[in-house]
Amino acid sequence: MRYTDIAIIGGGLAGSTAAAMLGRAGIPAILIDPHTTYPPDLRCEKLGGTQLETLRKTGLADETLRATTIDGEVWEARFGYVVTKKPSDQHGVMYDTLVNTMRAQIPSSVETLYTKVVEVATSDERQRVVLADGETISARLIVLANGLSISLRHLLGLGRRIISECHSVTLGFDVVPVDRPTLPFPALTYWPKRSTDRMAYLTLFPIGNTMRANMMVYRPMDDIWFREFRENPEATMRAMMPGLDRMTGGFKVSGPIKIRPADLYVTENYRQAGVVLVGDAFATSCPAAGTGTDKVFTDVERLCNVHIPNWLATEGMDRIKIDMFYDDPVKTECDAWSTAKAWHLRSLSIDNGPTWRARRWARFIGRLAQGMMGLKNKPETRIPASLPRQESHEGRIA
Ligand SMILES: Cc1cc2nc3c(=O)[nH]c(=O)nc-3n(C[C@H](O)[C@H](O)[C@H](O)COP(=O)(O)OP(=O)(O)OC[C@H]3O[C@@H](n4cnc5c(N)ncnc54)[C@H](O)[C@@H]3O)c2cc1C
Repeated sequence: MRYTDIAIIGGGLAGSTAAAMLGRAGIPAILIDPHTTYPPDLRCEKLGGTQLETLRKTGLADETLRATTIDGEVWEARFGYVVTKKPSDQHGVMYDTLVNTMRAQIPSSVETLYTKVVEVATSDERQRVVLADGETISARLIVLANGLSISLRHLLGLGRRIISECHSVTLGFDVVPVDRPTLPFPALTYWPKRSTDRMAYLTLFPIGNTMRANMMVYRPMDDIWFREFRENPEATMRAMMPGLDRMTGGFKVSGPIKIRPADLYVTENYRQAGVVLVGDAFATSCPAAGTGTDKVFTDVERLCNVHIPNWLATEGMDRIKIDMFYDDPVKTECDAWSTAKAWHLRSLSIDNGPTWRARRWARFIGRLAQGMMGLKNKPETRIPASLPRQESHEGRIA
C-alpha cells in the first residue's frame, strides 16, 4: 500500500492544476489518470478576463499562458456590421495543450500513476483508493476531479441531478480564408440576427497560425440542422449570419467539425468526510457562457491555497472540515454566477418575450455606443489590467 496526504483522482484541468499547486507547496500528493498525455477533446479553447486573475492566484499562469495565443483585439459584429472593435485579452489554446501544459508544471515530488481508480472508500480519518491494477493508496484526503465520469459516484453515494439537459451545443472547427493569406481581423464575435436561429454567438480567435471557431447553439442533438452543418458548413453559416462574408471575405471550414452537447448538472450528497469534488465532478457549466474554467480555477485555488493546508494542520478529515470548502464564499459566489449566466445567455439568445427582445436591443445599442466611443478615444484605448467579472465575461461571450 502507498501512503500519501492527498490522492487526486483525475488529471484533467482541475486535477492537474491541483497536483501542480500541492507539489509546489510541498504537500505529499499522488495524481491518478489513465492517460499519459491528455487526449484531444472539444472543451474550453480560450482563457480570458477573470479566468486569468484566478489562474494567477494558482502561481501557474506564466508557463500556462506561454502555450496560448492572445488575440489583442476583437471585432464584434451584428446584422452584418462591425459594431465595435475593442481590446481583448482572450488567450486561445486547445484543451489538450492546456491540460498537458499544466501537467508539465507538476513537480517530480508528486507521483502520477497512469491507470484508473476502480474503488474508493472514505472515513473521518484515512481514505482508501484502489487502482485498476489492484494497488491500493491510503490518503488523508481524496480530491475527486474525474470530470463527467460517473464510474465512482455510486461507491460514494453521490447523486447527479440534471438541471438542463442539452443546455447548449458547441461546434468547434478551423476556418481558413479563400483568396487571401489571412482573415482581416485578430478575432471576431458575431451575434445572430434572429432569436429563431437558436444561436448564442460565433467566435473566431487565433490559436497559433490557425483561426479557430467556436459556435454556440441551443438545439436538440437530433435537429437536422447539425447534419446540414456537417454537409455544408459555409452555406449553413451564411444562411444564419447574412453579412458574415462582409467581415471575413471568402472563407471555408477546414479539418474536422466537432460537435458536443453540454448538460447542466449538479451533484447531490457531496458533503462527506474525506473527499472533495472539484471542477466538472462537482457541477457542470454552460460552454456558451464560458464559465467552466472559472469554476475549475476557483475550486482548485481555494482548495489548495486555503483549505488543504488548514485541514492538514490538525488530525482527521471529518465533514466539518470538508464543509469549509463548499461554504467558501468565493466558491459559492462563482458557482452561483456561473449558473445564472448559463440561463441568462440562453434567454438573451432565444427567448422571444418582450423583456428579452428589449434586452437584446439594449445590448446591441450599448455595444454600438461603445464602438463609437472607442473610435473617438482610439489612441487611449488600452487593455485593462483587471476587469470586473461581469464586464470581462460579457466580453468573452459577446
Ligand atoms: C464542448 C465544451 C466546451 C467548453 N467550452 C468552455 C469555454 O469556452 N470556456 C470555459 O471556461 N469552459 C468551457 N467548457 C468547460 C470546461 O472545459 C470544463 O469545465 C473543464 O474542462 C472541466 O475540467 P475537469 O478537470 O473538471 O474535467 P476533465 O478535464 O474532464 O478531467 C477529468 C479527468 O478525470 C479522469 N478520470 C475519469 N475517471 C477516472 C478514474 N476512474 N480514475 C482516474 N481518472 C479518471 C479523465 O481521464 C480526465 O482526465 C467547455 C466544456 C465543453 C464540454
